[in-house]
This record gives sequence, C-alpha cells and structure tokens, in this order.
Amino acid sequence: MQDTIYKHSVKGKRGVRFPEPGVPEKKLSEIIPGKCLRKDNLNLPELTELDVIRYFTNLSHKNFSVDTVFYPLGSCTMKYNPKINEKISGLEGFTEIHPEQGEEYSRGALELMYNLQQALKEITGMRAISLQPAAGAHGEFAGMLIVKKYFGNRGENRTKVIIPDSAHGTNPASAKMCGFDVVEVKSNSRGLVDTDELRELLSEDVAAIMMTNPNTLGLFEEEILKISQMAKECGALLYYDGANLNAVMGITNPAVMGFDIVHVNLHKTFSTPHGGGGPGSGPIGVTEELAGYLPVPVIGYDGEKYYFDYELENTIGKVKPYYGNFGIFTRAYAYILMTGGDGLKKAGEDAVLNANYLKEKLKKYYKLPFEQVCMHEFVLSGDIQKSRGVNTLGIAKRLMDYNIHPPTVYFPLIVPEALMIEPTETETKQTLDNFIDIMQNIYIEIETNPLRVLDSPLNSPVSRVDEAAAARKPVLKYDFPGKESE
Ligand SMILES: *Cc1c(COP(=O)(O)O)cnc(C)c1O
Repeated sequence: MQDTIYKHSVKGKRGVRFPEPGVPEKKLSEIIPGKCLRKDNLNLPELTELDVIRYFTNLSHKNFSVDTVFYPLGSCTMKYNPKINEKISGLEGFTEIHPEQGEEYSRGALELMYNLQQALKEITGMRAISLQPAAGAHGEFAGMLIVKKYFGNRGENRTKVIIPDSAHGTNPASAKMCGFDVVEVKSNSRGLVDTDELRELLSEDVAAIMMTNPNTLGLFEEEILKISQMAKECGALLYYDGANLNAVMGITNPAVMGFDIVHVNLHKTFSTPHGGGGPGSGPIGVTEELAGYLPVPVIGYDGEKYYFDYELENTIGKVKPYYGNFGIFTRAYAYILMTGGDGLKKAGEDAVLNANYLKEKLKKYYKLPFEQVCMHEFVLSGDIQKSRGVNTLGIAKRLMDYNIHPPTVYFPLIVPEALMIEPTETETKQTLDNFIDIMQNIYIEIETNPLRVLDSPLNSPVSRVDEAAAARKPVLKYDFPGKESE
C-alpha cells in the first residue's frame, strides 16, 4: 500500500525559501486578532520540492488509463481521446469566460454550443437538443421528466415505464426517480427484447419504453421498427439510451428507428477522458412535438446573433446550474469537426469490426452466450472457468497483472459470470492480438495453475479489496501523525 505523504515528512525539510522581506517584520498576533489564530500547530508534512514531485508522480503512475494501457471496459467506450481536443478546450477564450459575464460577452461560446446542438441534431436525427444534462443518467432523468409532463399536459394518467432486463441500471433508477413504476421486459434466447412479451405488457398505463440500441449485450435490436410501431399504437413514448451510439453513428440514428427522446454521452462517443466518475455530459434530443419541453435555456440563433432561449412553452425547467459542462462541449465539438461525418461513420464501423474480431478469437476459450454478429461490444461468460474454481472476478484481476484494464464484469445481469468487452475503434490489430494472447494465457493458467489466478493481482499496490465496503464505508479522513484530537 502506498504511504501517505505524511509518512515521508522529516522535520526541518523545506520546499521554498523566501528572501529577506526588506521591511520591518511583525508578529502575526499583531496583525490578526488572537481569537482567530490557531492554538496548535498545523502539522503539515515537511519535504523538499523534489520529494513532493516524486511522491505524486509515482502515485499517478499507479493508475490505469487509456493513455497507458488497453482499456476494454464494456459499456464505457474508453476510446483514445485525441490531444488536440484538450488543447482546444484549454484555449484561454474558453477557460477564462465566466457564466455570469453576460450573453453579449459570450457570443463565441454560444456559437460553439449552437453548432454542437446542430451537429447532434444531424447525428441523432432529432429536431431539438438541450446540452444541459451533466451525464447519461442525468439525460435519462430529464427525458423522463419530459415524459411525465407531456402526459400530464394531455391529462393522461400513465404510470408505467417498460425497460428490458438487459438495461443499464440507470434506466430503471431514472424512471423510478420521476415517479414511474418500472416494468421489466425479458430478453429472448438471442439476447433481444421479446416482442411477444412486450405486447402483453403494453397498455394505456404505459408512458414510455426505454431502449438501448445496440443493447447492453452489444446486440442490435433487429425488431426495433416493430417495437416503435407497438409503442405508437399504445400511445407511449419511446426513449433511446444513446450510450452505445458509437456503434451506429453515421450509419443509422434513433430518429430513423422511431424514437421520441434520446440522450447521448458526449464523454463516451465524442471524446473526453472520463475514468473515475467524471466529468460527463449527456445532452438530450427530442422530436418536433416535444421540442417545447426541453430544459431551458437552449441556444438560439436569429440570423445575426446567438442567444439563450428561455421561451419554451412547456419546459421542464432547468436541470443544471448555468448551461451544462462547457469544457466537454468544446472537446466534443472539436472531435466532431476533426472526425467529420464520414469519419464518425468509419469510427462506428471500425468499433464494430474490432469487437467482432475479438469475439471470434476469444470464443475458443470462453463461453459466448450469443452467437450473432455483435456491434461495438460483446459479452462472454466465465461459466466454465468458474466450474474450475476461478470466477470472472479472478479473470478480471489477473488481467491487471498483464497490464490490461479489466473489462466490465457481472453486467449485464442476465449473463452469469459476464465479461463485457468493448475494444473501441482506436485500438490497433497488434493491441487486440496481444489481448487475445493474454486471454488465452489466463485460460491456460486456469486449466493448469488456478491458484495464481485466484491470488491475482500479484503486481499491484493492493491485491483484493473489499469493494462493497470501499464504496459503502470509505475511509476519507486520515489522522496524520502527531495531530491532537479535536
Ligand atoms: C454509461 C451508460 C449510462 C449512464 O451514463 P452516465 O454518463 O455514466 O451517467 C446509461 N446507459 C448505458 C447503456 C451506459 O453505457
């Protein structure tokens, strides 16, 4: 385990030395009233500048990142983020503006946001976009508020939202938080929504169906047009979780599939380093009919200037202070412009090609529950390995010893011992082949020497941690040496 910096403290070491002041010195107590002064020592660690630099640089090298290792974390689209996007979002004109400085002094930022709205309209096929939501889950939440208000205005009391059993956990959470009852629809033997069961579940109580396409198994919902027809016939809205847009952008879009409301994850599909929980951006798009319900402000353009438009008739209000996570808009916009329409399509095609290459190679060693062509990701099952005594968690941890970030595990919930692999389009064949070799090695280890895998990771600062306790009872306070109790 890495020591805290306090353990490296040596009395008398220092990082900076100030010059003689050249004016008479005063005691602190002569300037600051006594009751405002600390009674005890602040107890900061004492180190040289170089000590501090080495400490934090070494600490930072213990991270796994897209910039250092292959990162096939399914459902997260951990693609390489071109550094030019960082450079552009770091331009002074973007970083030094303040949200309170007023519209007339922010036209450039407004223009960028407007253009991003336009680009997302074209990519999704939707008619209006709000950039406000700060994450995918937040976009879902805003979308469900729109569903609620829409039926409220129509005087229809629809209480249920139908969600497939393969869905991301944020889907039912968002629906529930908006007061809907969540009804689960089962997947069939091919991992797709069972449309017969869906038909049974549809009624006048249903406000929306939330769908992810391709779904979280990485499979394209082939009956999507039938499903959207069924939603329409029952008067329900169709919500598109666009977190998996990377597979289909430029090839098809949710409008073509018949969706009414969509969110996209700028921090997945459109660049932005997003490990460790943020920051994110989850813009939502809607059909013409629902445009007036979007969160305000949206960015308007009157042919002369760009402006904040608060005048939406049925708006659900604001869902975020100010206008959204602007630093992510700049990255996404730079990415879209640099990649271009054809480039986005190619990115999607390559993501699908890479995933299918890995799937075909790895199914020799690990069970593949769904045989059909996958989209940008696929799910394996570690079932057979579990019967040898090593579960999927063991496989994931062992990958860390080989310097690979583990795939998503135990999700979707409908595949036992799931390993969800998403290579993304930015990886080369050499990287994929190396991963295949390592997965083969781990397969052989489990057949011959499972103990090594059971004890993994062997090379990391900590081995197996109690993940539930780490999340539920995090130790956030450190009592540094010599500190008196308060
Ligand atoms: C990532 C993801 C979400 C949630 O997005 P966040 O930005 O993490 O809130 C929702 N659905 C799917 C399918 C996802 O992969």
